[in-house]
Amino acid sequence: MKPEDPSVFYESLFDNMLDGLAYCQMIFDMQGNLIDWIHLRVNKNYENLTGLKNVTGKKISEIIPGIRASNPELFEIYGRLYLTGKSKRFEIYVKPLSMWFLVSAYSPQKGFFVAVLQNITDRKQIEEDLENARTAAKNVFEDLQVEKEALDNTKAKDEAILSGIGEGLVAVDKEGNILFISKAFEALTGWGEKEIAGKRMVEVVPQEDEAGNLVPPQERAITQALVGTTTTSSSSSSWYYIRKDKTRFPASGIVTPVTLDGKIIGAVEVFRDITKEKEIDRMKTEFLALASHQLRTPLSGIKWFVETLDRKILGTVNQKQQEYLDQIYQLNERALKIVFDMLNALRIEGGDVAMKTEAISLARLARDVSLATAPVAEQRGVRLHADVKNLATTVVETDAEMLRSILETFIVNAINYSERGQDIFFDVTEETGSVVFSVKDSGIGIPNDEQGRIFEKFYRASNAKKFKPDGTGLGLYVASMLAEKIGAKILLESEPGKGSIFYLRVPKLKSTT
Ligand code: ADP
Repeated sequence: MKPEDPSVFYESLFDNMLDGLAYCQMIFDMQGNLIDWIHLRVNKNYENLTGLKNVTGKKISEIIPGIRASNPELFEIYGRLYLTGKSKRFEIYVKPLSMWFLVSAYSPQKGFFVAVLQNITDRKQIEEDLENARTAAKNVFEDLQVEKEALDNTKAKDEAILSGIGEGLVAVDKEGNILFISKAFEALTGWGEKEIAGKRMVEVVPQEDEAGNLVPPQERAITQALVGTTTTSSSSSSWYYIRKDKTRFPASGIVTPVTLDGKIIGAVEVFRDITKEKEIDRMKTEFLALASHQLRTPLSGIKWFVETLDRKILGTVNQKQQEYLDQIYQLNERALKIVFDMLNALRIEGGDVAMKTEAISLARLARDVSLATAPVAEQRGVRLHADVKNLATTVVETDAEMLRSILETFIVNAINYSERGQDIFFDVTEETGSVVFSVKDSGIGIPNDEQGRIFEKFYRASNAKKFKPDGTGLGLYVASMLAEKIGAKILLESEPGKGSIFYLRVPKLKSTT
């Protein structure tokens, strides 16, 4: 064999080329339609790529019996090659093989054609799945937007109605007997003032807990206010009041003792019906569940396919195309983070998070939270000062994971709502039986009339929405649920335009100082 012999060169080229190659003779019917072809010669990769074996000398109709029915266009294209003598490049899905091919075909002489093919099934699959995942995610986002707007509207309407009704108000003397009630009290409980004046409030309007158990009179907030164990008693959790007709409604309110010359002479209770709020809360939970569960799969799908696509096209795309792909990836990561936050809120709300108490030193805690929030701080050009040296050896016994999570939420918020170059201070002070953490920023602050609402699910203050459009309003909601779990209290001081301080008072079960 002489290496300079061109035919030897071609032989080895055919067999070593990555594409599949087939040289075929066409068979026509009487009307001149192409109805079959015989494989005169194929290279090794033709068989590898198609998975077909021993094809040389055989007709396509023998090798792939259903091909005329599944791919009539293939017969048309090859048939036209014969007539026009032109070459043709096309993509085709061959159903009997479940494969996509990119084919370049031409006819070197009448009645014959050469087809060079690549198997592009993987690429097609990725493109198709990516497109499906993208469409699915887009649809869900659109649905969610509509749903959220409906929720906001319902809430606004309900709020107007609620404020129109006013609140139930009852004043009692030092024995707990009813002195007077408001019109709204009558409307809420069904009792008229004349019927109940002089009777004991705790008997006239029984109270039940969430589970439907009667709250004993001595445990009622109004009784406790009269004996001086509480000055004001508000309830973040709600209870139920029983109406005159024995039906019940969820209520929430505040009791204040009335004092004269330092002596308690009675008490006032203000309460309202929170049926609508409970309903809205339920709708929000439903929305959370719908959003997070529906989005998780397509978004994880997009992530996977973008990563795969990125690997497959490495080095074959220009800089702009690579930038677009990176953008898709980053945006998708952000959406995944939102979904993660939603799922986390659901999980905690569902109550299936057990407390794990452990002893943790403040030094360790400060280090953990600074490390965890450092990347966000750096990215936004904000400096975090977490100096707890004076109390470094103090130990708190609590669920460290939950505590860290609350403090990290405060710090990340402080970072997010500060201007570039500003400072944030994380600090701890000690009180009897508890430690108080504080996170102080000099950022945008919170409008006074919105400070009471920022712990609600999805609530974002008007200035925060303008300053940083992409928040979820879930961080503080989750933080407040966690705080309740570990028996901690959140307090807030904030002035719009000046900054905010978030405090967390945590009971310290054990101290080594
Ligand atoms: P998100 O930050 O995703 O909006 P959060 O539940 O963590 O959700 O916070 C709820 C809202 O509370 C924010 O949208 C913002 O209006 C307000 N907020 C929280 N922390 C701060 C802060 N440090 N400074 C100003 N506003 C804050």
